[in-house]
Amino acid sequence: MDILPKILLLREELNQHNYNYYVLDNPTISDYDFDSKLKELQDLEHQYPQYFDSNSPTQRVGGMITKNFDTIAHEQRMYSLDNSYSIEDLLDWEKRIQKVLGEVPLQYTCELKYDGASISITYENGSLVRAVTRGDGFQGDDVTNNIKTIKSIPLQLKGNYPAKFAIRGEIILPFKGFEKMNQELIEIGETPYSNPRNTASGSLKLQDSAEVAKRPLECLLYSIVGDNLPFANQFEGLQAAREWGFKVPEAAALVSSLDGVFEFINYWDVHRHELPYETDGVVIKVNAIQYQEELGYTAKSPRWAMAYKFKSEQVATTLNSISYQVGRTGAITPVANLEPVQLAGTIVKRASLHNADQIEKLDIRIGDTVFVEKGGEIIPKIIAVDFSKRPQHSEPTHYITDCPECQTELIRNEGEANHYCPNFYGCPPQIVGRIQHYISRKAMDIEGLGGETVALLFNNDLVHNYADLYELTVEQILPLERMAQKSAENLIKGVAASKKIPFERVLYALGIRFVGETVAKKLAKHYKNIDALSQASLMDLVLVDEIGERIAQSVVDFFENQENRVIIERLKSYGIQFELEEKVNLNATEILTAKTFVVSGVFTQFSRDELKKAIEDNGGKVGSSISAKTDYVVAGDNMGPAKLEKASKLNIPIISEIEFMKMITE
Ligand code: AMP
Ligand code: ZN
Repeated sequence: MDILPKILLLREELNQHNYNYYVLDNPTISDYDFDSKLKELQDLEHQYPQYFDSNSPTQRVGGMITKNFDTIAHEQRMYSLDNSYSIEDLLDWEKRIQKVLGEVPLQYTCELKYDGASISITYENGSLVRAVTRGDGFQGDDVTNNIKTIKSIPLQLKGNYPAKFAIRGEIILPFKGFEKMNQELIEIGETPYSNPRNTASGSLKLQDSAEVAKRPLECLLYSIVGDNLPFANQFEGLQAAREWGFKVPEAAALVSSLDGVFEFINYWDVHRHELPYETDGVVIKVNAIQYQEELGYTAKSPRWAMAYKFKSEQVATTLNSISYQVGRTGAITPVANLEPVQLAGTIVKRASLHNADQIEKLDIRIGDTVFVEKGGEIIPKIIAVDFSKRPQHSEPTHYITDCPECQTELIRNEGEANHYCPNFYGCPPQIVGRIQHYISRKAMDIEGLGGETVALLFNNDLVHNYADLYELTVEQILPLERMAQKSAENLIKGVAASKKIPFERVLYALGIRFVGETVAKKLAKHYKNIDALSQASLMDLVLVDEIGERIAQSVVDFFENQENRVIIERLKSYGIQFELEEKVNLNATEILTAKTFVVSGVFTQFSRDELKKAIEDNGGKVGSSISAKTDYVVAGDNMGPAKLEKASKLNIPIISEIEFMKMITE
């Protein structure tokens, strides 16, 4: 068979599957099969470089470095929107429209206002050619390489699209993905991002598109511009965009009067809290393009469109006290304890105060009346103090100087926002936090042992570091609260099973500051074993790809510490994996006979090929989609929400790769 048709067919297939997964949220192929096809295409493109195409689905992984983003003029200006805040504002707006158009019947398209970074993407003959940020509206930055990594943006269109047009939309970061990114930062002791919008717009300007590819960004589209467009109004335009393969939220509605607009606003004012992403309002557009043209533009915005801003929900309450939490890495977080108050459907009792600077900036004092705001799922924050209600004789807040848990004097490094307690080995929350991190799912994944039990073990003097876990006995733990023979045995078993966890995860589990999952993998791969790593000098470490000075210094400090050395020697003596195993050797058995597995998501221990092979080598079958016949779903990171829902609907157990490994090794 000719190579080119084969390549083209694979590209088309993969584009369709991307569309099903990321736009429709309805995959029709297993991740495994998707990956094999992608791999096949990659191999072919590699073998036949003459058929390279910058819009091939293989290009989604990124890897292009942009040092300077070119400035590009928009062929048609990107306008801003006027804002309205009330029904009266909208009634006034309609009057202004009728002054121009006369008393014609008006239809409006109502859309949600997505809160992210605006983008204009140009397509020619169905191919994505350019993506430019809004900039000042006249010209913006060429971020094409970064935009191509966002999987809900089609690289190649389908259906009956015009030869040339631009489409405008908003790059957003859904709450779930945002929280996951922050979780990972917190895990390694870094400062989390403050909100999804800034993170989304910051992502567009990253130099390495492979980094952008890793971020769970999405693009929601709302308008098409160009000459001779095949539709006569906004609503049809949205439908056309959907048909060509774009992600256009289904919330958009066509209404035939302002009453319909009010209904839309009232509905979404309540239900916006259920959306997976942030919205700060609604955008109302005169539907007919002919009318839009008659109405035209002011200096800044179209006369035919209007944003309606939701009131961000704010309440006033009293600050009762400030407490200071000590994290696993010793970082101190001040927390406001509030008089409980109802806000956006939940009762708020606490809010983060971030750090000493924030407290100073707000000039917040105990007894103050404060305004609290909440957006979506993000933890509530304190916006301001109501100074008019400040009690007489109130005292300025003095940030603590000593650790509230161990009384050690706090340190604040230059350039860092947070204070921290340097007493790593004597400060109880740090000790407990480190052990909790050690046993967590992505680290040693110790079953039968939870965070609370760790605290209990520590408070009962049974463990002081993670090595102590391996010397626990059933007799010791039986007397603890809520422990029974069975649970005690499970705990001991779980601890023993962690001896199989591979080196890179052990390295992550050790909880070295700034060594997250990815860095741990890099270091494990490079140094192969803990002895080589522990002897590496600062100079040596910074030469490793992607290891910066801050990480290198933290690694050196960790291994210089005598206490750490002793703990590692002990872990070695219990049989923990401190060497990179060339490949997990999963012996062929018949353990899984008559069991069907579906594999979904991204894995850390296996490639999906290896996982599939392991299932088959042990007698199991690999299914391509979840059905009543599926016995287990092996889930990695980023498993699609549609799959998750299906599996839980059918009551199919979802297991991690580690649980799977245990299944075939025990
Ligand atoms: P502003 O930045 O407040 O002037 O608001 C205008 C911006 O809202 C536009 O540049 C778009 O990026 C953004 N926007 C979000 N959702 C929509 C939508 N459905 N229709 C039009 N613009 C939108
Ligand atoms: Zn302390």
